[in-house]
Amino acid sequence: MSSTDVAWVAIGSNLGRRGLALARLREALTADGVRIERVSSEILTRPFGVAAQPDFHNQLLVLRSPVPWTPQHWLDHAKGAEAAAGRRQTYHWGPRVADADIILLGVHGEIRVDEPGLTVPHPGLHERPYLRRLLDELGAKEAEHPSQRR
Ligand code: ATP
Ligand code: CA
Ligand code: CA
Repeated sequence: MSSTDVAWVAIGSNLGRRGLALARLREALTADGVRIERVSSEILTRPFGVAAQPDFHNQLLVLRSPVPWTPQHWLDHAKGAEAAAGRRQTYHWGPRVADADIILLGVHGEIRVDEPGLTVPHPGLHERPYLRRLLDELGAKEAEHPSQRR
C-alpha cells in the first residue's frame, strides 16, 4: 500500500459549539508530529443525506506527517482526532460533534484506496460541491480533482 506524508482532511461539526469543535479537531490532528500546512476558510453547509439536523461547520486542511504513513494510519489518525474532539457514537450521516474525513492522499491527491473501511478519494467528493470549492481554495489543481478524470 502506498504511503504518503500528505493528507487532505475535511473536518466538520454540527452539534454544540461547532467552531470550538473544529479548533479541537485541528489541535488533535497535530498529534504525533503532524503539521497543518494549509487551512481553508470555515464554511456552513447543509447536512448531507439526513436533512433534519443543524448545519455543519466545515473546513479543509492539508496535513503533513513527519514520515510517510499508510492510508490506514491516516484513517486511524483522523479517527483518533474525532475521539479527542469529543465524538460519541453516531450513525452514518447523523449529527456529530466532530467528523474528520480523508478526502485525498498524496501531494497531488494521486493515491487511490478502495478497501472495505477506506475509500480515497472520498466518495462524497462527487456529490458535495463545497468540497470542490475548498479544494480550489487550497490550490488543488485540476489534475487533483479526481472525479474529472473518471
Ligand atoms: P461520509 O463519509 O459520507 O461523510 P460519515 O462521515 O457520516 O459519512 P462516518 O460514520 O463518520 O461517515 O464514517 C463511517 C466509516 O467510513 C468510517 O468508520 C471509515 O472506516 C469509513 N471511511 C471510508 N472511507 C473513508 C474516508 N476517506 N475518510 C474517512 N472515513 C472513511
Ligand atoms: Ca463526513
Ligand atoms: Ca466521517
